[in-house]
Amino acid sequence: FGEQKRSVAVRLGLIPQKPVVHALDGVDLTIAPGEVVGLVGESGSGKSTLGRIAAGLMTPSDGTVRVYGRDAARDKAVHRDVQMIFQDPQASLNPRLRVDQAVGEAPLVHGMTDKAGFDSYVSAQLARVGLDPAVRSRFPHQFSGGQRQRINIARALALAPRFLVCDESIAALDVSIQAQILNLFMDLRDELNLTYLFISHDLRAVQHICDRVVIMYLGRIVEDIPALQFSGAANHPYTRALLGELPDLNQRRKTWVTIKGEIPSPIDPPKGCHFHPRCPHAFDRCRVERPALAQIGAGHRSACHLNDINDQSTRQQGSL
Ligand code: SF4
Ligand code: MG
Repeated sequence: FGEQKRSVAVRLGLIPQKPVVHALDGVDLTIAPGEVVGLVGESGSGKSTLGRIAAGLMTPSDGTVRVYGRDAARDKAVHRDVQMIFQDPQASLNPRLRVDQAVGEAPLVHGMTDKAGFDSYVSAQLARVGLDPAVRSRFPHQFSGGQRQRINIARALALAPRFLVCDESIAALDVSIQAQILNLFMDLRDELNLTYLFISHDLRAVQHICDRVVIMYLGRIVEDIPALQFSGAANHPYTRALLGELPDLNQRRKTWVTIKGEIPSPIDPPKGCHFHPRCPHAFDRCRVERPALAQIGAGHRSACHLNDINDQSTRQQGSL
């Protein structure tokens, strides 16, 4: 987040894990307060890693994470501002803790409530996510998946965050429940002026709720585009493949399983543009030189050498 408490910024270099996997490579992402940013890409793209780093659950070996102007590595308290909601609402709740313990214990430790105010504090959190405060004394197994996810959201909100990282937070839920939880996220955004990093493989959900879509491939951001332009003006060949817009890659279904080939291993990613072995437009330069993530329009960045070829007419004629 920038100097005037304006944004969340993540600037990262290589992140060696064990074995040496460069989960993220030169990621540079700034999120403004109140923005809803969708983060998409196949598994292995590094999107969960980026989310965990933004939420303070992982520390990059290199690079900086600034949250509301503060360096997250040096000021751990900033991480209360950023809370994470995971995919599996079952696994993220301790089965032995009652709802009031799950939701209220961390705020108690942080002095955000006290013994006397505990019940009403917890009740307010539950009411905000659409749960009857009377469920306070129940255990997680007594709830449906959607209700458990509401408990997780209440638990995150109980710490009064400004920023929520949602990692596939609706993926494990029934389709009818997914829409309810998405609506809850959007209501909470308006009510609490929340900022979101919304990690998902569900392009429709992302387009529906996000202001901006960031597309990752093998640890790099390949495109960053306003959500309204996502379907019509996607630039990067990988994004267009995800959208099923490339006829030579797209058989029938508009999903990314139709992209030619497997995502390569992040342990030994292809040289140059990571996407070149699967890209129908790859040329010599793509195999040796990494394309920079460059501004190509208002709020629109893309990392593809084709953008250096300044021949608009050729592109419009469909060679891209
Ligand atoms: Fe394809 Fe080359 Fe663009 Fe990479 S840089 S997406 S390989 S055209
Ligand atoms: Mg993931």
